Amino acid sequence: MQGQSRIEAALRQAGVPFTREEPMARHTTFQIGGPAALFAAPQEEQQLLAALDICQKAGVRCRVLGKGSNLLFADEGFDGVVIALGPIADGIAVKENSITAWAGTALGRLCTTAAASGLAGLEFAMGIPGSVGGAVYMNAGAYGGEMKDVLTEVRFVDETGAVRSLPADTLGLGYRTSIFQQKSWCILSAAFAMHPDSRGEIEARMADYLDRRRQKQPLELPSAGSTFKRPAGAFAAALIEQCGLKGYRVGGAAVSEKHSGFVVNLGGASCRDVLQLTGEVARIVQEKTGYALEREVQLVE
Ligand SMILES: Cc1cc2nc3c(=O)[nH]c(=O)nc-3n(C[C@H](O)[C@H](O)[C@H](O)COP(=O)(O)OP(=O)(O)OC[C@H]3O[C@@H](n4cnc5c(N)ncnc54)[C@H](O)[C@@H]3O)c2cc1C
Repeated sequence: MQGQSRIEAALRQAGVPFTREEPMARHTTFQIGGPAALFAAPQEEQQLLAALDICQKAGVRCRVLGKGSNLLFADEGFDGVVIALGPIADGIAVKENSITAWAGTALGRLCTTAAASGLAGLEFAMGIPGSVGGAVYMNAGAYGGEMKDVLTEVRFVDETGAVRSLPADTLGLGYRTSIFQQKSWCILSAAFAMHPDSRGEIEARMADYLDRRRQKQPLELPSAGSTFKRPAGAFAAALIEQCGLKGYRVGGAAVSEKHSGFVVNLGGASCRDVLQLTGEVARIVQEKTGYALEREVQLVE
């Protein structure tokens, strides 16, 4: 990466921990991906702001990483800086019926905090293995709910380094999409409007969703969840199954036998395997059913 030694010196000076040539397979639920030239892991918001500023001034590519549960990195790796957002102290604040959470907070932790506070609205998110930032970026959803339903405001860093806030209804939230997919903005925190309910009822709904996931999803194998978006008027998994593609395999990647909407890593799958597999699945589904499948998993090349 051009100017790497200067970037390293600036990160060191700002106190941002980093490593070189970090295999992205270690940081994604797919367990696929070559090395990132630099992998920075800010431990607090000031360090994150500094890391973003350093990348912006150096003019290098930068990618924010949440829990890596919707990412597919190229086998060749990433010639830039990956900035990984972990949890920070005081990452969740509950005030009356609203919750504000730091972007690196695990959704699971957000959900259990909401339940313990007797606040309902985020039950659908229990079991989605992402972070708050990644879930806002994707407008993650399940079982009839999505982030859009409860999100009220997002605080983020824009391309000039300014920290701004925008109300949720200006964020272009739609089915697995948001304004953040068009911008190089970094989400810092998100606020949610909840409603009071009994802790027991909330926890029972969350337990039910977790149970359904365990029964239907191949959670024992590495994956990035649903590989394709749901095309209008159909379900990707049903179309794939209808085309006889359950178990269809390229190298170490295969359409899950348990849930055809998932591509799983059977061991040693490469990004190339996944791209070839998803390309073939989409082509066959299009030929046989007329539906166009679009990848939901975010490819980083
Ligand atoms: C077993 C399994 C089940 C799943 N089930 C569901 C489901 O039911 N519903 C669903 O919607 N998804 C599901 N997913 C997919 C995934 O968990 C969600 O998309 C999740 O919201 C991604 O969050 P993340 O933190 O892992 O994001 P990452 O994978 O780390 O990143 C995803 C994208 O968001 C960007 N990003 C992350 N954080 C930030 C930030 N702070 N600022 C700016 N950009 C950011 C990244 O650059 C990347 O482009 C599942 C995945 C798995 C593996």
